[in-house]
Formats: sequence, C-alpha cells, structure tokens
Amino acid sequence: MWLELHEVVRRFGTRAAVNGLSFQLERGAIGCLLGPSGCGKTTALRCIAGFEPIDDGVIRAQGVVLAKRGESIAPEKRHIGMVFQDLALFPHLNVHDNVAFGLAHVSRDERRRRVEELLTVVGLADRCFHYPHQLSGGEQQRVALARALAPKPDIVLLDEPFSSLDSELRERLGLEVRQVLKRFGATALLVTHDQREAFAVADVVGVMRDGRLEQWATPYELYHQPATRFVADFIGEGVFLPGDIVGPSAVQTELGVLHMNGGARWRPGQRVDLLLRPDDVIHDDASPLTAEVCARTFRGADFLYTLRLPSGTQLLSLVPSHHDHAIGERIGIRIEPDHVVAFERKSS
Ligand code: ATP
Repeated sequence: MWLELHEVVRRFGTRAAVNGLSFQLERGAIGCLLGPSGCGKTTALRCIAGFEPIDDGVIRAQGVVLAKRGESIAPEKRHIGMVFQDLALFPHLNVHDNVAFGLAHVSRDERRRRVEELLTVVGLADRCFHYPHQLSGGEQQRVALARALAPKPDIVLLDEPFSSLDSELRERLGLEVRQVLKRFGATALLVTHDQREAFAVADVVGVMRDGRLEQWATPYELYHQPATRFVADFIGEGVFLPGDIVGPSAVQTELGVLHMNGGARWRPGQRVDLLLRPDDVIHDDASPLTAEVCARTFRGADFLYTLRLPSGTQLLSLVPSHHDHAIGERIGIRIEPDHVVAFERKSS
C-alpha cells in the first residue's frame, strides 16, 4: 500500500483532534478527507506531512514507517509535496522560479526542462515570467500545484486548496487539478469541507467526524449507500421517510412498499427511516400519487421542489426546469429509488 494510516491518534491536551484514523491509499489514487469544521482533517494532513507528531497508531508510506508514537521522520525526508490553503507562492519570484524552487539539487538543463513540462501540463507555459500578483486565483493555484509536483514527490497533500476561490470556480479547478494529478500518476490526499470539491477531485473520499472516519468509499457509494445517518445527512440532499420492516427487504411506508437491496440485518416489525434523495422522487403527471409544492429552488437545468404529502411528510424532488409548477400546486410523483437505504428510527 502506498500510504497507510492505522489507528492514528493526535491529542491536544485531553482532546483528541484525530482519534483512531485508519485508511489506505493505493499508488496513483486520489483520496480526500471530507468533514465539517473541526473534525480533524487538517491535523490528520499535518501528521502525514510530519508537522505534527502522533500520539498513537502508525503512518506508513510504501511500507516504511513515517511516524508512530515517539518516532517521526523529518518532514523534508518524507518525499511529500504540499499545496496549502493560502497557496503560499513567493511573491518576489516569477512563475518559473516559483516552480523551480524545490529543484536546487538537479542540473540547470534538467530543471528548465522539468519546469517547462509542468507549466505546459497546468496550462501556464506562456506565463513563465509573470509574478503571482499578475495571475488570477485559479492560475496561482495551478502554479502552486506545479511547484508541489516538481520534485516528483511520492505523495501530494492538498489542504483546502480552493478555499479562497468562489464555489463555481472550485468545481472546475477541482477537475483540472484531478487531470494534472492523474497525468503525473501522483498519489494525492486532499482535505476539504466542500463536498462538490471532494467529488470533483477524488477517487475515494473519507467522511470524518470527531477525529475518525465514518465511511471511506467512492463518491457514488457515499451518495447512494451511506453507511451512517451522519454520512447520509452530510453528503447530498435528501429526506428520511419513516417506514416499518415487513419482509426481508421490504419496507411499508406511506408511499407503499419499497424494496431495499441487502436488507439482511433488519427484522420484521423494526421501525426505520428510509433515505430518499431528490433524484429518487420522479415527477409524473400520470401517477395517482400526488404531493403539494411547498417550496422550490431554480437551479438552471432543474428545479429542486420541496413537496408535502397529505400526511404532512416532506420530500425533495429534482425536476427538469421546463416543468415549472407554482407553490401550492399538486403534482404527480413516483418513487424510483436507485438504492433504498434504511437507518434505525431515532426515538423521538
Ligand atoms: P477546519 O475545516 O475548520 O480547518 P479541521 O477539520 O481541519 O477544521 P483541525 O484544524 O484539524 O480541524 O482541528 C481539529 C480540532 O483540533 C479542533 O477542535 C481544533 O481546535 C483543535 N486543534 C487543532 N490544532 C490545534 C493546536 N495546535 N492546539 C490545540 N488544539 C488544536
């Protein structure tokens, strides 16, 4: 395994910022730690980089121990490239010299060749002699990435690299960064609290809560098969629909009987909440089931409708934006979940 964390703990005083964190990243994979503010993402990244010692567990890269309790390889010996939140480009160096900064040990020709190659890949070959203040935020971000990749690190760590940019730009740049990392075959770990960014960049995402992982999975799995209610809430949008287990994989709800995939752990009679995503609730004029529109958000290609069932239960539905319905109207709906995921009902 290229990067491996096993039960890593980092405490500040009596409080563990990272509290038993374990995951593995294969060579060439892009991972992401995603979670709310204060869940320990940055601390985890700093432990991997070597800026923070660890109190328990072990961090390995290619089988070699980078850190364990009382033992730590110096950051500069870890072959790790970093891209920070604030980019931290040197303002007095031009683009070429910023990227060449970590290449003091290679020959002049090799250095020039490598910087040119990197700037071509990040699409900034014509900005060689520009200074950071002459570049847009996105361009500076790409220079920072090229600089991190220049010494051919074994692992690249990215700490909220897009946080200074607006959210539209973040997703686009996320994709660009992903392409650059993939072109270099880099193994990378990103931390962010922005789900769109995580999904745009990473192959595998770990949702963190209170210093540990709730789930480590592909974006698709996190969205469609969240392992916990916290992940279901944190990732994407949706509502919880109450139901009762009536068969090995069947749940009786006010919308009829819905079938789960893999219902083995449920017993008949158990009370559950089913996760329904907005794309599971289809607008269908021919359907006998109707709901009242009580709110709507126009998103360009589609509307996100909040719908109320006669019982008062609310659902979300994603509908192509040419279906323009007013608040108060009743519209036909059909439930067509890709995956029905159930969680034990919280006692109210
Ligand atoms: P954010 O998204 O807000 O940056 P994060 O998930 O990256 O949050 P961390 O910065 O890792 O979270 O912080 C996790 C917890 O550890 C927080 O409660 C924070 O206050 C605490 N913490 C982090 N660094 C230190 C430190 N040097 N000394 C004391 N407490 C710290």
